[in-house]
Amino acid sequence: SYNAGRRSANWVSWRLEAADLGSAARTNAFRADSDLPAELPVVGPDAYARSGWDRGHLCPSGDRTRSARTNALTFLMTNIVPQAPALNRGPWRDLEEDLRATSRREDTALYVVAGTVSSRNDPALPSGVPVAAFHYKVIVALPRGAGPSDARADDGVLAVLMPNGDEAQGHPWTDFAVAVDDVEAATGYDFFSALPPGVQARLEAQRGAALRPRFSRADDSSLRWQ
Ligand code: MN
Ligand code: MN
Repeated sequence: SYNAGRRSANWVSWRLEAADLGSAARTNAFRADSDLPAELPVVGPDAYARSGWDRGHLCPSGDRTRSARTNALTFLMTNIVPQAPALNRGPWRDLEEDLRATSRREDTALYVVAGTVSSRNDPALPSGVPVAAFHYKVIVALPRGAGPSDARADDGVLAVLMPNGDEAQGHPWTDFAVAVDDVEAATGYDFFSALPPGVQARLEAQRGAALRPRFSRADDSSLRWQ
């Protein structure tokens, strides 16, 4: 979902499973998104240059390595937000890596939503892209082949709300785990709205750094992060 006023995404959502991962190299193909309607302002690949902000991926480059084509899609500037180096190269990246490790399980697909909260303008970014105070992620782990509307109350859910600044430095991502309810309060979005109210309420109240697929054993150490 693109926000023309903020010249960046409201949110980006994707599925991550083993088939998305391969041996394609990082393309670094940052570029304007030519699929946007022509009347909208264009954000080019150099929009953050010398601003001090990283070009932070919402859907990570590393989640799309099956082919050079799918990898290049993650470098469209509609998938990029100004991200503090301490976050982009710290807990945000660490969570990306942990999620990819989980997605290599043949029985599991992850559904992920990522976006930003509380934007302000930064004079260092003359391109008109505001900088968010927090970046969030909401993830649900489902059996491979299931669709998002098949989620059950006992499926693994994870949500994080991370500060987009130097405060992120030195923290494990687990320090920023919250409930989906907290991300709903911060963003105004209603996640999992296609699910029955009871399932939705149970999933959204879960709090803690766990993302346990429904068929995994409780002692599966590959999924225990805290
Ligand atoms: Mn990144
Ligand atoms: Mn909801």
